[in-house]
Amino acid sequence: MVAMKMQINGKAAGSCGGECFDVRNPATCELLEQVPRGTEEDVALAVEAALSAFEGWASISPQQRGMVFYRAAGLVRQRKEELAALLTQEQGKPLAEARNELEGFSHVLEYYCGLAGSLRGDFIPVTGNGYSFTVKKPLGVCAAIIPWNMPALIMGWKIAPALISGNTFVLKPASSTPLTNLTLASILNEAGLPAGVLNVVTGSGEIAGESLVRSPDVRKISFTGESGTGKRISELAASGMKRVTLELGGSDPMIVCDDANLESAVAGAIRGRFYNCGQTCTAVKRLYVFESVAREFIRKLEEGVKRLKVGNGLDKDTDMGPLNNHSQFEYIKELVAGIEEKGEGRIIAGGKAPSFKGMGKGYFFEPTLVSDVPGDSRLLKEEVFGPLLPIVTVRNLDEAIEEANRSIYGLGASIWTKDLDRIRMGCEQLNAGIIWVNQHLKVAPEVPFGGVKESGFGRENGPDILSEYLETRTIMLKT
Ligand code: NDP
Repeated sequence: MVAMKMQINGKAAGSCGGECFDVRNPATCELLEQVPRGTEEDVALAVEAALSAFEGWASISPQQRGMVFYRAAGLVRQRKEELAALLTQEQGKPLAEARNELEGFSHVLEYYCGLAGSLRGDFIPVTGNGYSFTVKKPLGVCAAIIPWNMPALIMGWKIAPALISGNTFVLKPASSTPLTNLTLASILNEAGLPAGVLNVVTGSGEIAGESLVRSPDVRKISFTGESGTGKRISELAASGMKRVTLELGGSDPMIVCDDANLESAVAGAIRGRFYNCGQTCTAVKRLYVFESVAREFIRKLEEGVKRLKVGNGLDKDTDMGPLNNHSQFEYIKELVAGIEEKGEGRIIAGGKAPSFKGMGKGYFFEPTLVSDVPGDSRLLKEEVFGPLLPIVTVRNLDEAIEEANRSIYGLGASIWTKDLDRIRMGCEQLNAGIIWVNQHLKVAPEVPFGGVKESGFGRENGPDILSEYLETRTIMLKT
């Protein structure tokens, strides 16, 4: 085994403390790699490298920066099969989903390459004999701390707007999925990113993550992960007066009305909940179906869910891989264990860890449906990050929206109906950052992404995002 290194100042670097940690395949629990356990000193070196590279990177044109992205997007496509296998092995997702995520990464780079030409200030006429205008300046060193569910895509969302705006960067990947992130960073260097512009420090959230947030030279932190971690990061960042973007948990409701196309709603619920083994921030985490169509809808859903093939993501007929890590696996097992005894619903599909011959000790759990879930159930309150879908029947749309909004989260929500009045009501009254109509889960770098309430603040993606990575400087000129 070759230990994969951190990337600091364009070079592979070990940890100053000399320690490593294991990265394991969640389908087999086999050791894949050992990666340096980054220390406070490693973070300081990475930030120093980013600071030294800043002036050079900020002074080249946005179009030249964009060309690096363009070349990197092509290189990622050329190496897609190798990268997809790596992503599947460390994360667990089926190969098709891993390819999709890597295509998403390339697409994000190309989108920001296209936005390079829109980086400009304004000319503002003022009264009197003068001119005013604004110029946009990059912030300096930006940083991101990212999770393990979509490591490649989320890396793209974080680094691309920051770098295209002329900032330099330090990335802290999740400890269970650093390998694809390290490889993508080396591809960006191969595509022409100057040394020090993008640095990757591996290591624990408590040490590497918090040191990054505390570093006085880091001007902006973008974080995706659990709401509690987001609050901690927000507190630390506030004392350093840093900008923060927080993409936190979600418990997205899906509302199926009685006039919905049930086949397409069933397919949407299965994909919306079980894609990536249910580990997506905008997954369908609560399903509200009108009681008049509930029986038919649930029967079709049950049939579809029972057809899903659980297995190693490297096998080509796998529909759903394992959970990513041991604590997620234990959480889901514990959650499901007492459902019926505690009166939290009736398990109508799945409900246990399947056993596979010769598969080792992977973190597999069956896709699980729970019906008759009472409104105050834990299944509806927590962010259930795994393959479990609670189903609640409702009388009408007023009741569905009231229940859907009864959550501390507000990331996404979807409404499935053909009726325009119901669509309008859903779009106006559902309290979430993203509302889908007759679909769920779709994201794109062209449109803003982010939540309300405990799902965080700030947005990622979309053309307005660049302002999050730029300072406005006003110049007033007297003639
Ligand atoms: P965390 O929020 O703990 O981890 C996300 C990232 O933050 C990782 O890189 C982690 O590092 C880092 N981190 C952890 N603690 C700190 C800290 N104190 N300061 C700075 N960085 C830190 O999520 P978990 O991985 O523990 O997942 C737990 C739950 O979070 C899930 O069950 C799910 O509900 C939710 N979650 C939501 C996601 C979303 O997209 N909405 C994504 C991932 C998780 P390290 O990996 O080294 O611990």
